[in-house]
Amino acid sequence: FGLACVLAIAVVTPVTYLGKAFNDINLVAYCITDAREFLELPELTQGDKPIAVADYGVEISDARFSYIDGVEVLHGVDLSVPAGSFTALVGPSGSGKSTIARLIMRHWDVDSGSVSIGGVDVRKMPLSQLSSLVSVVSQDDFLLDGTLRENVAMGRPGASDEEIDAACRAASCEEFIGRLPKGWDTPAGEAGHALSGGERQRICIARAILKDAPIVVFDEATAFADPENEARIQRSVARLSEGKTLVVIAHRLSTITAADCICVVNDGQIVARGTHDELLAQNDLYASMWKAHIGAADWAAGSHVGEAAA
Ligand code: ADP
Ligand code: MG
Repeated sequence: FGLACVLAIAVVTPVTYLGKAFNDINLVAYCITDAREFLELPELTQGDKPIAVADYGVEISDARFSYIDGVEVLHGVDLSVPAGSFTALVGPSGSGKSTIARLIMRHWDVDSGSVSIGGVDVRKMPLSQLSSLVSVVSQDDFLLDGTLRENVAMGRPGASDEEIDAACRAASCEEFIGRLPKGWDTPAGEAGHALSGGERQRICIARAILKDAPIVVFDEATAFADPENEARIQRSVARLSEGKTLVVIAHRLSTITAADCICVVNDGQIVARGTHDELLAQNDLYASMWKAHIGAADWAAGSHVGEAAA
């Protein structure tokens, strides 16, 4: 595990200074931010003094972004997530939801506009501060080299065994860990084949629960094995987000009917926002997505419909 981190850092260190063209690799840099803290290595960005933030709200202002020059994927996104609130992003595949999440964590930086936390532009913060403010559970699970237990433990270097166990229980990992012959000592690479996408995501949720950052960004995995797995994920995310600022990118709309604000993303813009009931009544795209969701859930789980509508 240590060696893998050092190698990753060796790759990333020069890259961090080269800017946008190399941001794909910058994604790796972010993924190992926690690993860097784990190893107590110096900051990759200049300056490491945290800047005081007013609160744990997230503000995205007129954000434009392109992965490839000339192909803009976000066309001026405004998003205000008040501290302690629950905001959801929904929309068709490819509309830009995960990209918005990536801007919050600085996997990528805006071309123009800004992203700030508690009034401080994320580009002005040391990466270690940003990392301590935001827990990310990504759509693509990021199990790092090392055992599954180490993957959880790196959420908070120095956490006690009891704290690690509690986080694993809160993410209800025990049941599938018990299936693995080596249990928590299974190397992540080996576990990758034995676990479903949803199960791997629960390891990442356990890591985030242990980390206990005030802002949680959860990009729901697209492929879950079954409704039971989905229900477990939802319970784990509820534990993860208690009392926190929560941004959820949802593929199953039942996850987010209780959100304070649901933003409908389409073609790189937020085209509507409101509560579930408001959007159902006022937004055709949301209403059609909800109908499709109800149909799919009905097909998969029968009784799920009533639960989702409740
Ligand atoms: P969503 O999460 O809503 O499905 P994304 O934010 O992942 O959508 O993608 C928005 C657009 O950006 C899509 O057209 C997608 O193909 C493109 N895109 C996403 N990631 C990359 C990347 N790493 N390089 C180039 N284009 C990308
Ligand atoms: Mg996505």
